[in-house]
Amino acid sequence: MTEAADSDLIVLRPEGLYCPAGDFHIDPWRPVARAVITHAHADHARRGHAAYLCSAPGEGVLRARLGGIQLQTLAYGKPLSIGAATVSLHPAGHVLGSAQVRVEHRGRVWVASGDYLLTGAPDDLGVGEGAMAHARAHPPANATCDAFEPVRCDCFITESTFGLPIYRWRPPGEVFAGINRWWAGNAQAGRASLLLAYSFGKAQRLLAGVDAFIGPIVVHGAVEDLNRAYRAAGVRLPETLRLEEVSDRSLLRRALVVAPPSVQGSAWAARLGECSSAFASGWMQLRGARRRQGLDRGFVLSDHADWPGLQRAIAATGAQRVIVTHGYEAVMVRWLQQQGLEAGSFRTAFGDQAEDVAGAPAAEQATPAA
Ligand SMILES: [Zn+2]
Ligand SMILES: [Zn+2]
Repeated sequence: MTEAADSDLIVLRPEGLYCPAGDFHIDPWRPVARAVITHAHADHARRGHAAYLCSAPGEGVLRARLGGIQLQTLAYGKPLSIGAATVSLHPAGHVLGSAQVRVEHRGRVWVASGDYLLTGAPDDLGVGEGAMAHARAHPPANATCDAFEPVRCDCFITESTFGLPIYRWRPPGEVFAGINRWWAGNAQAGRASLLLAYSFGKAQRLLAGVDAFIGPIVVHGAVEDLNRAYRAAGVRLPETLRLEEVSDRSLLRRALVVAPPSVQGSAWAARLGECSSAFASGWMQLRGARRRQGLDRGFVLSDHADWPGLQRAIAATGAQRVIVTHGYEAVMVRWLQQQGLEAGSFRTAFGDQAEDVAGAPAAEQATPAA
């Protein structure tokens, strides 16, 4: 744990992260008066707060998940005075609308990252003409939301869901090529391809990244609810059919079926007939995870930064002080201290396992508590 000083812009309270200068919470897990929400995953956006603030692109997905809430939105980069603090939101590259929260007070700046993902390119956080050319050569890791933007700050509160040296992602293009080969092979053999993924964020990233010419794409209703919010926000996704809309069952034999992990072994999945099953998640990098869950394939694809990505993001902020949340805090804190930074941790109630409202029981058994 990190000791709170009176001058700290963000502190840990029983309700969650709290900004005393602005009298608001960030992603609180207990009901509060004013909640600034980094993104609409269930562990960050909970019910019961009196008033919510989120990024403008995040409005549709937050409303899709929480319904009729009192919600104010803020365009990325636009400053807003809350109490004595100045707050702005900056893209985190994680899911549609995901934001880092920048708080400024009396000349000091703190940033709470929420969950974030960088592109796979090693120098994508550069500036100027070289960075522009580089960005053209390397498309964003996640085409369904704005790319992570490094924000200079004195103190950076970072997630560390995959904050262990074993987590190093392959370039997304490589992962998608593998998914396309698996799907095309199944279609050739006349069986459905059931691709399990969190219904908010990962599912849409998969839909946007696969080769839709291979065959029809069928989705679970939980996925389609979020697809609707993404399309309404202007994100291009291929045509999708809900399973209930498939009248010609032979079509399933060539189909990619995207559904939340909770459908594994369910009556819903049984309706697909013969199928090959796979799970797309960062947790698939763990040895034995795929086998323990009885899956044919595991694709390592995460919407969180990997170990090198976390380090690059932290370095790009220029922060002298770093507070680690969201899993594997101790390893990351030790590494940061070795770099000469002041580092501590906040014990938060965030966890990748809670990223899907439908839940991922099979995945929970196979992964360590984060
Ligand atoms: Zn998240
Ligand atoms: Zn999270």
